[in-house]
Formats: sequence, C-alpha cells, structure tokens
Amino acid sequence: MSALLELEHLSVTFETPQGPVHAVQDVSLTIEGGSIVGLVGESGCGKSTLGRAILRLLPENATVAGSVRFAGRDVLALSPKEIRDLRGRNLAMIFQDPMTRLNPLMRIRDHFIETIRAHNPAVKSGQALERAKKVLADVRVPSDRLGMYPHELSGGMRQRVMIALCLLFKPALLIADEPTTALDVILEAQILQLLQSIMHEYSMSVLLITHNLGLVAEFSDRVAVMYAGRIAEEGATPPLFREPRHPYTQGLLRSVIDLETTSLYSVPGEPPSLLGETAGCPFYPRCDKRMAVCETVYPEPRLVGEDHRKVACHLY
Ligand code: SF4
Repeated sequence: MSALLELEHLSVTFETPQGPVHAVQDVSLTIEGGSIVGLVGESGCGKSTLGRAILRLLPENATVAGSVRFAGRDVLALSPKEIRDLRGRNLAMIFQDPMTRLNPLMRIRDHFIETIRAHNPAVKSGQALERAKKVLADVRVPSDRLGMYPHELSGGMRQRVMIALCLLFKPALLIADEPTTALDVILEAQILQLLQSIMHEYSMSVLLITHNLGLVAEFSDRVAVMYAGRIAEEGATPPLFREPRHPYTQGLLRSVIDLETTSLYSVPGEPPSLLGETAGCPFYPRCDKRMAVCETVYPEPRLVGEDHRKVACHLY
C-alpha cells in the first residue's frame, strides 16, 4: 500500500473575538490506499475541523499551516477551481445529518442531476439518472426512491443517498464525519458494513471520524486518538485496542460499555479550552499518571514498541 493522504504538521487556528482558538495542532497522519482509518476523541477535540481542513471547507476566520498532500498533490496550494474539481471527484465527505445536506424542496433525482452537472454541465438528464441508478443500486437503495423528496425517506435511506452522491465520481478518499450518529445501533452497523463493502468495490479509502470506539475497533485498520487538537496516540487497530499506551486512550477504552460492563466509567474532568497558547501536556489536569515534567513540557509524539505506534506521552 502507498500513501494516499499525508498530513504533515497540520494546524488550524480560528480567529475569534476572544482570541485565537487552536482547534488542530501539529497533526501528522498518513492514510494508505485501500484502508480505513478511524479518528476518535471526545466532542470538541478537533476531529471534524481536521476533516474539513483536508477538503479546505473551513470558514474564513480559519488559518491553516502545515501541509496536506493528496495523491502527491499539495492540496493547500491548489487554486479555487482545482480544489472544486478535487472535491467530489477524488475527495468526498459525508456528514452526520443528511437532512442538513439534502434540499427538502428537491426530489432525490434532482440532487443527482445537480451534483453530476456541477462537474460536467454537458451531461443530459437521462445519462445522469442512469448513473444515479447505478450508484443507488451499489448502496442498496431501490431506484424508485429517485422520485421522492428527502423527508419521504427513512434516516438510514437518507444516509445511503448521501453516500451514493459521494460515490458518483468514484472518489479515492471518503471522509465520513460521524456518519451514523443520528441512526439507531442496527442502522449504524448496516451503514458501516455498507461502507466497508463498497470501499473494496470502489477501491476507496475511508477516514472515519467518530466518538464511537466500538465502530472503530470493528471497522478500521488504523486508529488515531485525538485530544485537544492533537494526536495523542496512533497505530494499527488491534494492538492499540489490546494494549492502549496513552493514559487518555486507556481512559477512553475503559469507558466503552459492553456486555461485561458492571460499573460505568468516564474520564474524569473536562477537555481543556483550545483558546490561547498552552504549555505542557494537554491531558495533564485529567491524568492519573502525570509527572512534574508534564505540566510544562509538551510530549512530542514518538514511536513506541514493536508495533511502531506513535504516542505523545512522557511515560514513553
Ligand atoms: S505526558 Fe504526563 S500528563 Fe500527559 S498523558 Fe503522559 S503522563 Fe499523563
């Protein structure tokens, strides 16, 4: 496998009336072709901002530093036209709530026609609908749904339609931002199984952004655990779940509920504010293994153990 997406020292800062908010800090991450990478962490840790930074979908008050390379191209240096072409065609993103992305006044068929014509204005409606039927079949949606409005579909069907819209141009990378949060657990598993099967059909990689560790354990090849805008730990899924090394990862895994859970656990305390500059390890106030050095010196990520896992913690 070779690198499809390479993030190097990527940082995103939002200018706000209260001061700069460092939403993503110095993130380096690689996604290989044909793999699923899970990006996990609590709400507000920068996961979605990272996903949007890859597609350059950030608001105007955002400043991005570092580099994003997709299939060898420098994404941050592309012109507005080049990035529009890249989005949808090579890089696509699905969001948590499809109702906010689908136009309630447009039938499903018109969403497909509009999306196809945005990249290729000369395509006739009949051709666009044939393509739509093909991708809908791939995500197991009957073609009679093309005549319906979004509100006439169930939540699971709407998310499948969103995935089908993303697949129209066979993107090499799909960024799935909490794609199943609005669904119940059975639909959640069905959508993830669907993503797993079509990524093979479409030779596609997936960046799965979620707070659900169970989904990541089941579906991803690698995991990156984000905390306070930084990657705390990153590595292959099985060893990371078997033996988490960063105290934050250990706490997150302890808080997963399964059939053997006898008492509930959650990581004590709250994630830190990302406003302004901070020194030391961001997990310091919540860490039960903290040492004096942790308060003032940030632990640079380093390779640890035989599975070459990256961990940002002074314990290693
Ligand atoms: S660097 Fe220190 S405070 Fe941070 S996670 Fe490691 S032990 Fe805990």
